[in-house]
Amino acid sequence: MEQTLSIIKPDAAAKNVIGKIIDRFESNNLRIAALKKLQLSKEDAQKFYDVHKNRPFFRDLVQFMTSGPVVVIVLEGENAVAKNRELMGATNPKEAKKGTIRADFAESIDANAVHGSDSLENAAIEISFFFGKRELI
Ligand code: GDP
Repeated sequence: MEQTLSIIKPDAAAKNVIGKIIDRFESNNLRIAALKKLQLSKEDAQKFYDVHKNRPFFRDLVQFMTSGPVVVIVLEGENAVAKNRELMGATNPKEAKKGTIRADFAESIDANAVHGSDSLENAAIEISFFFGKRELI
């Protein structure tokens, strides 16, 4: 059993497809261990994406992630980290495989519908960024 962090980004939340994206997870044997909707502050987004702070797209990324509410979700299941990445599809939706979340719901590399932890180690860090112990069932 693994846990991983998913974020339904502002573009997908604004499009009213939160439920449709959650259905992709549940239909593929991932369970919702914790979930909440919130608005990231600029400081939150900068801290969360700290690994990207020197990348040319960092400002755009922070601006986008704070442009509206997001839904943060802890997904749980067998190989949850890799399974979630597979369901998400490539970072650039134009390169994402047919039937993936990004191919079906995302518009651009900025507005790409979802975030997913890229390793078990980062999943633990990202989960504790958003959730306290008593929220994790
Ligand atoms: P992910 O793990 O597939 O989300 O991709 P990364 O961790 O590499 O990047 C984090 C987020 O930064 C992506 O989901 C994109 O929203 C954004 N991003 C990554 N690469 C680019 C890029 O080349 N240009 C822009 N504008 N945004 C990018």
